[in-house]
Amino acid sequence: MKSITIVGGGLVGSLLAIFLAKRGHKVNVFERRADPRTTNVYAGRSINLVVSHRGWTALKAAGVNETVERIVVPVYARMMHDRDGQLTRVPYSIENRAIHSVSRGELNKVLLSEAEKLPNVHLHFHEQCVDVDLDNARCTFKNDITSATASIKADVVFGADGAPSAVRQAMARGRFNFSQEFIEHDYKEVAFPANADGTPKMDPQCLHIWPRRYYMMMGLANQDGGFTGTLFMPHTASAVTPQASSRNAGAAKQPGPAYPGSHSGPGPAVYPGFDTVRTVAEVTAFFQTHFADAMPIVPDLVDQYLRNPQSNLAIIRCGPWTHRDKVALIGDAAHAIVPFYGEGMNAGYEDCKVLNDLLNEHGDDNWAMVLDAYGKQRKPNGDAIADLSMRNFVEMRDLVADPRFILRKKIEGRLQAKHPDQWLPLYSQVKFTDTPYVDALREGQRHDRIMEQVLAMPGVEEKWESDPAVQREVERKALELLTGSK
Ligand SMILES: Cc1cc2nc3c(=O)[nH]c(=O)nc-3n(C[C@H](O)[C@H](O)[C@H](O)COP(=O)(O)OP(=O)(O)OC[C@H]3O[C@@H](n4cnc5c(N)ncnc54)[C@H](O)[C@@H]3O)c2cc1C
Repeated sequence: MKSITIVGGGLVGSLLAIFLAKRGHKVNVFERRADPRTTNVYAGRSINLVVSHRGWTALKAAGVNETVERIVVPVYARMMHDRDGQLTRVPYSIENRAIHSVSRGELNKVLLSEAEKLPNVHLHFHEQCVDVDLDNARCTFKNDITSATASIKADVVFGADGAPSAVRQAMARGRFNFSQEFIEHDYKEVAFPANADGTPKMDPQCLHIWPRRYYMMMGLANQDGGFTGTLFMPHTASAVTPQASSRNAGAAKQPGPAYPGSHSGPGPAVYPGFDTVRTVAEVTAFFQTHFADAMPIVPDLVDQYLRNPQSNLAIIRCGPWTHRDKVALIGDAAHAIVPFYGEGMNAGYEDCKVLNDLLNEHGDDNWAMVLDAYGKQRKPNGDAIADLSMRNFVEMRDLVADPRFILRKKIEGRLQAKHPDQWLPLYSQVKFTDTPYVDALREGQRHDRIMEQVLAMPGVEEKWESDPAVQREVERKALELLTGSK
């Protein structure tokens, strides 16, 4: 039995506490913020998350899946809202499989309560880690109410303290690689209310997306009939020349004017960013131009925009994730990614599951071997899901409204339906299997190359939907390329 300090009682720290305590270790969780069960620490930043297959695998292994199942809403498809208010529903899987929407705050509360039921877990709130002595697994915490500091020695320390990780900062004083890349987009939460009678205003079993190239809004259902939405928008306004913009993915294929709302005439088009959309008039004009169809669904959209905090998005890559048998990073502290695959938390949950499996394999007294294997196994997967997430950003923002992309999805759906043992689309591999991210990414890149050639076949775009002969030829060609590229 080891004494373990977990820094951070968020989504990953709380699940990790359950895993380790169930193995018999003495676990202390130190969380900087107040207890979310007694204070609304998520106000204005509530964000709904999707739990996918690998998240469920970990929750099941920790024995808390049934508790979490009570607070989720199943989501079977993407529902695209175009500029004219037209809807297109694209299922996530041909077998009608679902991912699950859950409130981040509710999930955190449930997992903290599950952790606290275990007699060997102790939760400490308002305790901010301000330093770590890595060689001695000793953390210094500062209480944000009393300002008192305490030095806590353990056998092993886990940094589950998210993207700004203090544990990672301590590791960075040594031989440590680190990169942080902010993407151009920031985000704000938007709450979509239910109808007066509590029924939802949109199909709750869909992830609703308003793809607008420079902007994107999405909404995920809550159990109360409302939705929690997120508006993604560039941090700063940008001027784009027509030549530069036409090089952008999907640009040439978008119907209608390429940039509604941007000024026309000579010179570059200007796209507002959070920095230039600040007054009631600017915000109203922005939503009327880009999200007019969402305004009746969210009557106080402008107020919410002005009220809710703006947050940024970054990709953090670092390594090594471990320090001898003493310290390890886990979750966003090790691999903060952009949220466009909805996999950040799922990846963190998979970290916990892999660690637990390694403890099963090597025993609970061999932490040097366990942590070394954990870092080696998970780091490439952390990098792969970072790449996949950026890729899905482009897909959601630009491509979901592209008829060629929609055709590709249909062709892949047919290939999967007819040859499930040979063709599993990338999205399904990431969301509906435990395939390591690194393998899924490699396979997805192979599919890209094949589909590029398939979509270039004469007549495919015009005739695939209506001509069974073209469908057969496409299928033959795709499988031939698949076999040939193995
Ligand atoms: C808009 C958005 C949408 C997302 N959607 C999805 C999704 O659909 N599916 C998905 O899987 N993921 C999603 N994610 C990612 C997901 O939120 C994160 O991957 C997940 O929260 C990571 O959990 P964590 O516990 O590692 O870090 P965090 O959730 O950040 O928790 C870290 C905890 O550590 C505490 N802490 C920080 N510093 C200290 C310190 N010095 N001392 C003590 N405590 C500290 C923090 O207060 C916090 O409670 C989304 C993220 C965003 C921003």
